Amino acid sequence: MSLFGLTDEQLECGKVAREFCEKRVYPVTRKLDEEGLPDEFIAELAKLGYLGSSIPEEYGGMGVDVFSFACMVEEFARANGGLATLVAAHLSLGCKTLELFGSENQKSKYLPQMAKGGITSFCLTEPNAGTDVFSIRAKADPDGENYILNGEKQFITSADIAKFFVVFCKTEKGPTGFLVERNVDGLMVGTPEKKLGIRSSKTCGVHFQDVKIPSENMIGEMGKGLRVALNVLDYGRLGVAAGALGMAEQAFSEAVEYAKNRVQFGKSIASFQTTQFKFADMRTEIDASRYLLYYALSKCSEGKRFSIEAAKAKLKSSEVACNVADQNIQIHGGYGYTQDYNAERLWRDARITRIYEGTSEAMRMVIGGAYR
Ligand SMILES: Cc1cc2nc3c(=O)[nH]c(=O)nc-3n(C[C@H](O)[C@H](O)[C@H](O)COP(=O)(O)OP(=O)(O)OC[C@H]3O[C@@H](n4cnc5c(N)ncnc54)[C@H](O)[C@@H]3O)c2cc1C
Repeated sequence: MSLFGLTDEQLECGKVAREFCEKRVYPVTRKLDEEGLPDEFIAELAKLGYLGSSIPEEYGGMGVDVFSFACMVEEFARANGGLATLVAAHLSLGCKTLELFGSENQKSKYLPQMAKGGITSFCLTEPNAGTDVFSIRAKADPDGENYILNGEKQFITSADIAKFFVVFCKTEKGPTGFLVERNVDGLMVGTPEKKLGIRSSKTCGVHFQDVKIPSENMIGEMGKGLRVALNVLDYGRLGVAAGALGMAEQAFSEAVEYAKNRVQFGKSIASFQTTQFKFADMRTEIDASRYLLYYALSKCSEGKRFSIEAAKAKLKSSEVACNVADQNIQIHGGYGYTQDYNAERLWRDARITRIYEGTSEAMRMVIGGAYR
């Protein structure tokens, strides 16, 4: 048994991702933040198997378990929040929808393409339906053997490069999920949002105008789309929690490193008790978020319900990531406010984890709902 009971195989997954990031991401993380992830870089991720890592082996992936997935996302997020977002959203939202709810035909047709790097976006949010997912307006009307999809999706991760879109829309029996390929007439992707952080991951609106979707691309039962989406979001939240944990770990180690080397009043600032107390609080909070995440992962891997555990893990890790990233800037003083250090990027990147895949308030609604 190793730290937190992780197996050697699970730890190895994190170690390999860390080695990849040390070579390919840390040296250029600022450039990726400014310019985005180039196509060649995404092709390399696909070639190394990262974009199929959690897809079952029978569908062309590597079939790693949820702990290994979390170790990988943690390492990616330490190096670059946008990279972690791209990989985690593709695997834990887009691909996971098909893995959990797709028909055998859909899985054998699409998952191997997704595992090879066919990025898959998850389209739930709309301009007027964010936390309130029940208000989605995009609709799919029957038309012979097809459905005709019309509507608008907002803030869709990786829509700029996605080959596949998992889209939730209204049908005559209620909200339903569909798999939509990119090269269909009437699908238009907007220009990427100008964002505070995770800038290497692109976020765009997607417009569907009379898009014809074959009925066989319906995912799960008609009218049960929100059950599909909410189940998948539980997995997504494990990914966000793992990413937030990675950002917190990175901010913590950068803060310690800086404090040990920065001399004021003839001493390192790490020697001041005020600084040590900051570290004590940061370390305790990061470990607490790791425990909550690993508890949620263990319930998930035992096949038990884990919605509330995933919500607690996301809530805690994201709030901790933002607090630790903030303290990292404080410990860096004025330098932390400049682009000469990572601290400001980590702070910008961490901020999204309290918003996407359900805000902190939405997580409290999930957790608190048990006590109505
Ligand atoms: C970078 C980025 C990437 C994203 N990627 C995706 C993606 O790939 N796919 C996708 O479908 N969506 C994606 N989203 C959308 C994201 O999940 C939503 O932004 C989020 O769920 C919040 O919805 P909203 O922005 O409409 O805010 P709103 O729902 O309008 O919320 C605004 C505020 O009101 C609060 N609030 C709302 N309802 C309540 C309530 N009942 N009680 C208390 N407080 C409440 C919220 O917590 C929040 O603080 C992304 C967003 C961003 C910014």
